[in-house]
Amino acid sequence: MPLADPTPLPEAAPAVIVGGGPAGLFLAARLAALNATAGLPAPILLEKGPRPGRKLLASGSGRCNISHAGKPEDFLDRYGGKGRFLKKALYGFTNAELAAWLAQRGLSLEAEEGGKLFPASRRALDVLELLLAECASQGVVPRLGARVASVERMSGGFELRAEVAGEGATILRAPLVAIATGGTSYPATGSAGEGYALAESLGHRIAPPRPALAPVIARGFALGSLAGVSFSGLPFAIRRGGRIAARASGDVLITHVGLSGPGILDASRGIEAGDLLELDFSLIGPEAFRAAFMACASGSPRGLVRNALSEAGLPRRMAELFCSIAGLGAEAACADLGRAPREGLLRLATACPVEVDRLGGFDEAMATAGGVELSEVSPSTMESRIAPGLYFAGEVLDYDGDTGGFNLQAAFSTADLAARSISRAMAGLASTG
Ligand SMILES: Cc1cc2nc3c(=O)[nH]c(=O)nc-3n(C[C@H](O)[C@H](O)[C@H](O)COP(=O)(O)OP(=O)(O)OC[C@H]3O[C@@H](n4cnc5c(N)ncnc54)[C@H](O)[C@@H]3O)c2cc1C
Repeated sequence: MPLADPTPLPEAAPAVIVGGGPAGLFLAARLAALNATAGLPAPILLEKGPRPGRKLLASGSGRCNISHAGKPEDFLDRYGGKGRFLKKALYGFTNAELAAWLAQRGLSLEAEEGGKLFPASRRALDVLELLLAECASQGVVPRLGARVASVERMSGGFELRAEVAGEGATILRAPLVAIATGGTSYPATGSAGEGYALAESLGHRIAPPRPALAPVIARGFALGSLAGVSFSGLPFAIRRGGRIAARASGDVLITHVGLSGPGILDASRGIEAGDLLELDFSLIGPEAFRAAFMACASGSPRGLVRNALSEAGLPRRMAELFCSIAGLGAEAACADLGRAPREGLLRLATACPVEVDRLGGFDEAMATAGGVELSEVSPSTMESRIAPGLYFAGEVLDYDGDTGGFNLQAAFSTADLAARSISRAMAGLASTG
């Protein structure tokens, strides 16, 4: 991995990128490449941490689910209603273009089940090293240990105050600034919400940050002994105040304290404390499961209830647990099953109630909902509508994608759009002297 730039920070730069995550690194690499062909100088990238791309390294459990297969239009409804804002970015730099850009540099992608795209090596480190190598080849070496503490408007641009390791407080002026400081989930990776304060100080409103792609912590959770059991395509309803607020389905994992897995994480932006989740573990629907269970029970009346439940489709351990929750002994026979316990069992199997105590916090959430208010940023350029010359890229913006590679694709696409806009702005500034 290339070392940080050891030279002192200059007093002025043509453009400064704040944040060395995937959005900031890609923005720097693309902008420098565009500038090189236009005879313009490379930007400076400031990263507060000792290493860039720490969240990228954690992505996909270190395997980096970098994007998703499909057409650009398939992406639009994967951002909880924010796809419209992202449309120009996602169409301007698509998953196919990202794959081609990486392949030209020797990193090929492979699709896994459901369309998730990963580097063929399954190593997030390879993606980070490629981004850093590309930055270096374009003349950008990230300044590590350089935390931007404030950005102020001044005539002709911005004045940034950076706390630079080994240099102390340093003032840097630039006509153009891009904020790519990420959200506030997994704050130990460096994205601790500081970009919100920078944007706010320049007049931007911030939609309150909330954990997104977060697991459910259940109240009085009865299924904890099944931790590790997972289901593909599990249908579930979200009940709020006695009414069904939403229905969803997806892969669900039972944990010691509640529920996780892509289906729950994706639905978490619509789940609130106090909601009741009703999970259909039968996977075939209440009527079909009732019919299957009744056929097993009447087919062998001396058979055990737990066996009939598992023959009807429930995992064996779950069938045993449900019998115990329904107050039946392990040896209870189908012939002895009364109406009330039978209905209780069928409800557990097809609409198992799980009360939401809370969602996992920012230390568990894989993304941040909320952030820089989208109506104050141009979707065509990623430039601020409040402070001209200021740009945004990546998760600092108020969008959050589903699991499956949608967050990283949005980081790359918004970064590409910002890079093209900043390069144009630099060319304009250069031509006006
Ligand atoms: C555990 C985990 C797994 C994930 N897996 C996936 C996945 O497989 N696929 C997917 O699509 N998404 C995944 N995501 C989400 C994805 O990683 C993020 O959406 C993405 O990293 C956002 O990129 P970014 O560049 O906008 O922000 P970040 O990656 O958060 O980078 C922001 C950078 O800015 C720096 N910074 C912050 N403040 C300052 C400051 N004041 N001065 C200077 N620098 C600053 C930070 O140190 C950080 O390096 C995962 C997230 C987590 C937490």
